[in-house]
Amino acid sequence: MSQATAVLSVDCEWFQHTPAYRGARGSVDSSAVGTEGMSFLLDAFESGDVTSTVFVVGEIAKTHPGLIERIVSAGHEVGSHTQTHAHLDELSSDDHHREVERARETLSAVAGTDVIGFRAPSFAIGDGHFRTLDRAGYTYDSSIAPCRSIPGWYGGSHRRVRPGPASVFTEGAPSSITELPIAVMPGLSLPLTGTWIRFFGVRYTLYGMRLLARRGITPVLYVHPWELVDLPAVEGVPRRVYVRTGSWMRRAVTRLLESRFSFVSMHSLLDD
Ligand SMILES: [Zn+2]
Repeated sequence: MSQATAVLSVDCEWFQHTPAYRGARGSVDSSAVGTEGMSFLLDAFESGDVTSTVFVVGEIAKTHPGLIERIVSAGHEVGSHTQTHAHLDELSSDDHHREVERARETLSAVAGTDVIGFRAPSFAIGDGHFRTLDRAGYTYDSSIAPCRSIPGWYGGSHRRVRPGPASVFTEGAPSSITELPIAVMPGLSLPLTGTWIRFFGVRYTLYGMRLLARRGITPVLYVHPWELVDLPAVEGVPRRVYVRTGSWMRRAVTRLLESRFSFVSMHSLLDD
């Protein structure tokens, strides 16, 4: 049997972009936190001979072109995580279109490659999302968390865990867009990464990955650079954001990358 594949994608955003930071009083050197986390991830990918997809916030590419160069020259795919990390379901359809189109233009120009993949902040996509992506020139999306409803967060609107044309997730969506949902635990129906790996532990994530692989589904995991850093305390940011960030999460990522899975880019899943 050939080795099972998995994706460890990155949502490259600064600490200040996270919804949890909205209530912050005081400030932090957010880009320093982000670049430290990205450096750890890129080093870990290199030592594990791993290829990833990094969904980058467009405005980061403008201020940190060297980071994008490093991602591209290491052979990783650059995807889009909007221009400003706006929550798309809070925008008008014109603003939604601008967020995704500007991000694709900015990222393609800085990366020097075509950017075809998209992930929405907080899995919030709003109406007409797939048509908007199609118009802006994207080929695939990974913004659906097919999990139970987590009040105040996300989930509850989609249950299909298998990749497929966007039209099977949302009626009337263009079939030219492929949806690659993020991995959730069968039965429990909660994501395998994000907050959930930090709450439930690495064994939870690895067990879920094996269950999905047995069903022929490539698990799509995600991580944020700020999770890999000992976060500076900021008043007004909920305590749960800090749980097991920093050294615990660094060990967790290392254990995932040392598992039996072969880690590939999102883009490569489209060819299967
Ligand atoms: Zn994000």
